[in-house]
Amino acid sequence: MAVRRSAAVGDGELLSTYPFLPGAERLVAAFAPSLKDLIEDPALSRARELGRARIRSAVEDPTGATGVEELALATPEERFLSFLYARLLLSAPRSGAAIRRWAVAEAKRGSARLNAADVEEIREVARRLGFAVEVHGPAVDLPIPEYLRLATPIREAGFRLVHQAVAHGSVRVDRERAARLLQEAVRLRLGEPIALGDDVRTRLLDAEADFLEEILKRVPTPTSRTGGVGPLLPDKFPPCIRKMRRVLEAGENLSHAGRFALAAFLHRAGADAETIVDAYRGAPDFDEGITRYQVEHITHRDEGRGYSPPECATLRSHGLCVRDGDPNAAAAVDRGRDALCFEDRLRHPLQYYRIKGGRPVDDLSPEAPGGGSRPGVGGKAA
Ligand code: SF4
Repeated sequence: MAVRRSAAVGDGELLSTYPFLPGAERLVAAFAPSLKDLIEDPALSRARELGRARIRSAVEDPTGATGVEELALATPEERFLSFLYARLLLSAPRSGAAIRRWAVAEAKRGSARLNAADVEEIREVARRLGFAVEVHGPAVDLPIPEYLRLATPIREAGFRLVHQAVAHGSVRVDRERAARLLQEAVRLRLGEPIALGDDVRTRLLDAEADFLEEILKRVPTPTSRTGGVGPLLPDKFPPCIRKMRRVLEAGENLSHAGRFALAAFLHRAGADAETIVDAYRGAPDFDEGITRYQVEHITHRDEGRGYSPPECATLRSHGLCVRDGDPNAAAAVDRGRDALCFEDRLRHPLQYYRIKGGRPVDDLSPEAPGGGSRPGVGGKAA
């Protein structure tokens, strides 16, 4: 739905278009339903149905490209309540992966509208989200600290500060780039579960047990599948994996074999799909939709166990082991910290991670057969 408005846009219309804005609850002030009403009142069943549709759409297409058709016919109140219900529902099971997946889709949906809005509307949305922006003709100025806060997780090379127009403590960005930054702000905001009281959580889990079971099955996490996996500890990753991440963050190309190895390793180390996709954002050919598809293919295999990451010998044969792959890379390795890799004791990068204190999914099963035909990941060229 294209939205083009001036600064005179009505408050109600703005809030129903962007239900994540603080103050959107004013849309339902006239009848002020309680959370219990929202979960159980038959009169609000349509809002709940739309809330579930928002979640289903995010699970089926986290890029947000697929709209929720029913929302176009919904009232502003229903749009807000369905948004709130979806957020509550995904906060109940304490599954970070599911709510982050939904946050991406909702942020994209809002961004599609912002992309078609004028700079005054972008300024108004940014202001309500707490960002001190100024409009200058067709561009927007953002204080450097706020720019960095939003641009740092994006990782696309074009968003690095060195590529921006900086003057008097602000970064000047065009309308499209401002919309992309706000998309990131919304993703971060919605990706955090709401703190629920025990009563509300129990009511939600009881009322939506079947729906949540279906959704969580479709957005699995390593912990939900295997147990025993610990928190992700990137500073304990082996040097080959650290180097792969640095290459992508620098906007350089990583080989097909390296992209596959990185995704499979991160999955076994306990990273959820969003974290894995984020690792590829700096790739020169990064395409979010393609990357998500490829990451899902790698991680959903074998009931969510995913492909096994390649062993050291395989990485060595692809020139990805820092020990003897690239002769120049060996100099960059901290031989004290990474002595393990030079002692001929390691068979697998996950072994390094475990010895250093990481708790990956507890298996080192053989790699998938057919090393040359593993799926690619990260972009069009993969
Ligand atoms: S020895 Fe294994 S873990 Fe260490 S850098 Fe080489 S491939 Fe990676």
